[in-house]
Amino acid sequence: MSNTRRDFLRGAVSATALGCAATITAMGQQDNTEKSRSAAPTQAKATAGRGPVVIGSVNAHPAACDKAMELLRQNTHPVDAVVAGINLVEDDPKDHSVGYGGLPNEEGVVQLDSAVMDGKTGKAGAVAALERIKNPSSVAILVMRRTDHVLLVGEGALRFARAHGFEEMNLLTPEARRIWLEWKETHSDKDDWIRPEADKAAKKTSWRRVDGENFTTGTIHVAALTAGGDIGCCTSTSGLSYKLPGRVGDSPIIGAGLYCDNEVGSCGSTGRGEANLQNCSSFLVVELMRQGRAPEEACLEVLRRVAAKAEPRLLEDDGAPLFDLRFYALRKDGSYGAAGMRKEGGIAVHDGTECKVIKAPALYPTKS
Ligand code: ASP
Repeated sequence: MSNTRRDFLRGAVSATALGCAATITAMGQQDNTEKSRSAAPTQAKATAGRGPVVIGSVNAHPAACDKAMELLRQNTHPVDAVVAGINLVEDDPKDHSVGYGGLPNEEGVVQLDSAVMDGKTGKAGAVAALERIKNPSSVAILVMRRTDHVLLVGEGALRFARAHGFEEMNLLTPEARRIWLEWKETHSDKDDWIRPEADKAAKKTSWRRVDGENFTTGTIHVAALTAGGDIGCCTSTSGLSYKLPGRVGDSPIIGAGLYCDNEVGSCGSTGRGEANLQNCSSFLVVELMRQGRAPEEACLEVLRRVAAKAEPRLLEDDGAPLFDLRFYALRKDGSYGAAGMRKEGGIAVHDGTECKVIKAPALYPTKS
């Protein structure tokens, strides 16, 4: 397909998506006014915080959001509140995208990435390629508070966690091992791995395969706005499944996997980390909100930029990116929004009454 046609299609979808952009306020109302769609730098800075509000990726519903909201009500620091919520999902062996039970790298080793950021101080902490510790988000908080650094990786991160008394364990659950072996035994017929007959009848694994048939993505992001207007956020992940050992995604990178600033709001991401890393997307979403964009609109605009820069090998014939990438944005005034590249998904929101999943648009919605 010619570039011109690709550009035209992109433009057409972008325009449609922009037309649908809406701000969802903490009160759950749609704000479709021309002002909310306007790109004019009308300053998103709000004077009165509309917290407490907690938002997150869909897997934050309801446990992580409920927990974070419960703690916000007890005046817990927003970073501690979101991490306590995320800990519940990191501990859950059934979520194969985070913590204990996360899918491993290509060698069967679970390597976790996580970061936290405090919107009041601008401080951040992160760990990457951390093995044997099921709560990387809790280690990331300590990097932020108990070191003069921002990011610790691999063996150094593990030693730091050990020094703080974190318990070491095998993070590869029997179920995650089964899935990893299934991948090893089926992804090529030109190696020595053979799938046992008995397993062939086993139910096909149904993980989200948004990054191509053989890869699974998934992550948790949670952000909180307190009644006093302070913002904190955290992203935690086991990363792209079957990644090369040592591969670090967007999640622990400040400005990519998450970013927050008390003056404006926050953003976090899930999906193809490489596309995000090349575009500093969460920082950009926050900056667009600073210039007056509504949260959902800012997410869509950044997705448009990511799509425009995607390598040809990652594009469908019609010019749409093959991969998914999602942003979740929370603004200082309590409004929030999210958007994805390919999948119409949702955003988990706790506005003080209950945790709900609210629909979020995709820039290039997939038909299936
Ligand atoms: N963003 C994560 C990473 O690239 C994976 C995901 O969210 O699917 O490591």
